[in-house]
Amino acid sequence: REWCVALPKVELHAHLNGSVRNSTLLELAKQLGDKGVIVFEDVKDVIMKSDRSLPECFKLFDLFHILTTDHDTVTRVAKEVVEDFAAENVVYLEIRTTPKNNEAKGMTKRSYMDAVIKGLKEVEGVDVALFDSNFRTNETLNSKLLDGDAKKKKIYVRLLLSIDRRETTSAAMDTVNLAMEMKDQGVIGIDLSGNPVVGEWETYLPALQHAKNLGIPITIHCGEVANRKEIQAVLDFFPQRLGHVCCLNDVEWEKLKSLMIPVEICLTSNVMTGGAPSLELHHFADLYNAKHPLSLCTDDSGLFSTSLSNEYYLVATTFGLSKSELFQLAQDAAQFVFADDVVKKSLKEVFKHAEKRLL
Ligand code: 5GP
Repeated sequence: REWCVALPKVELHAHLNGSVRNSTLLELAKQLGDKGVIVFEDVKDVIMKSDRSLPECFKLFDLFHILTTDHDTVTRVAKEVVEDFAAENVVYLEIRTTPKNNEAKGMTKRSYMDAVIKGLKEVEGVDVALFDSNFRTNETLNSKLLDGDAKKKKIYVRLLLSIDRRETTSAAMDTVNLAMEMKDQGVIGIDLSGNPVVGEWETYLPALQHAKNLGIPITIHCGEVANRKEIQAVLDFFPQRLGHVCCLNDVEWEKLKSLMIPVEICLTSNVMTGGAPSLELHHFADLYNAKHPLSLCTDDSGLFSTSLSNEYYLVATTFGLSKSELFQLAQDAAQFVFADDVVKKSLKEVFKHAEKRLL
């Protein structure tokens, strides 16, 4: 377990509001309870419950959003989430979050994202490398990443803007345009997420196509439920990465493999929400054996009480991967980041250096 913590890791699928510490959620719920906005005792039990079905998760997100959606809290949560990932040696983190309009709070999608970025700048105990231009000028970056504990640690953080499946075409389009507007501020991609039984592919397609035309990398939640038509459409759209890929039939499965689209694997999340029958029967094994490009991810570390180190540990204990195989898995994930080649090269160095220490 400690070895999995020490392993440098790349996180590519982490939802901001799903990665909030329980202690923070409870504190925020207490404050809102005191103000009479919610009934704390009811909310407390929901937050502390550990088994969650897929529909329950989305109800919970609505609750989380009540707790977290004001500018200062968004800032706080973004700061804490990065600190938590950095604490377990995640060296590159793509956080995804849904920019939210909230008139009552004077919040626009843009001001929401500004609050997130403010949080990233307030991170303590670790240097956050957020902009590409920083890396090029920051000669010390590599040595800081390489020396690990000896000096202050560094973490690359990038942002993906999520389109929520409840949104309209025009709202989805706004998100894509916002991503373009903020591309010099650490925003590097688009995600499609939200309750998989809600909404139609045709609603998001114009926005996704717009992102594709603008050259913005895209990752899509695929096959969380057995929606044949949509799975087919998503594979045909050929995004840069896919999340989950739980409910694919044999034909779709073969198509995924032949397209070699990298997959973000979320073991704990899939087992908890029923996307995979058990850890042992998770489709990770098939993809891994087929040498399909993949990366282990947490999805919602707060909601599912997991961590990226734990996901690596689960792979080791469930599928019997050796330390060198786990190391290779972590290292390979660096190939699928949406950041540029300068970052990829730097990550290569990080792993080269860590290899001597860990293997
Ligand atoms: P946020 O975007 O507010 O930072 O993070 C929470 C949101 O991420 C949820 O409201 C939901 O739209 C999305 N999300 C988190 N986990 C999952 C998941 O496992 N599947 C899907 N489809 N969406 C998710």
